[in-house]
Amino acid sequence: MRSPGFLGYWRPLYCDQVLVGEQEWKPELLAEYELNPAIIYVLDSSFRIAWCNLAWDRFALENGGDGVLREQQIGRSAIDATPARLRAFYMAVYNRVLHYGEEADCVYECSSAETFRRFHMHIKRKDTPRGAFLVVMNSLILHEPHTGPDAPYDTHGLRDEHGLITMCAHCRRTQLPETTDTWVWAPELVRRMPLEVSHGICSVCFDIYYGR
Ligand SMILES: [Zn+2]
Repeated sequence: MRSPGFLGYWRPLYCDQVLVGEQEWKPELLAEYELNPAIIYVLDSSFRIAWCNLAWDRFALENGGDGVLREQQIGRSAIDATPARLRAFYMAVYNRVLHYGEEADCVYECSSAETFRRFHMHIKRKDTPRGAFLVVMNSLILHEPHTGPDAPYDTHGLRDEHGLITMCAHCRRTQLPETTDTWVWAPELVRRMPLEVSHGICSVCFDIYYGR
């Protein structure tokens, strides 16, 4: 059964060039997406957000992100919303799926200050009379308190001699100053990101994203 909220979302949305509606998408498919526990969003061929499912809003609200509810995302560039260091990776993946119809999978972290979270992302192309779209499905595959090597690290001593903090753009671990590749989990910095942060990529994320 469809809720009124659901109907409101799969009808054509309010961005001129972006349209995900009943004429292009079978209602039963969008109903399945809408109620799927995975966070699902649809990108147009310019990689702008054309649609998000209910799980998007649920995740945003659970993480204090009432400023990023799905209504506010329609028409936004998914690339612009991606940390600069990761844009080339996502552009390459999106283009492969869009132009060659390959399906793509990757695993990434999106932890809160309190909880370690790992997601699986599956991207596939959906052809419609209005052209090709990408369907991006994000499933939570691991959810647990930060423990072991990820035990919370005090923020003391994480600034370098210039007062800067280097944080991984992907997993949000912080690099220990004076080291080349030691990254620690400092929840205080995740909870409230200081202004003096520069973004890098830790070796684990580099392997995932750029496959050495
Ligand atoms: Zn990382």
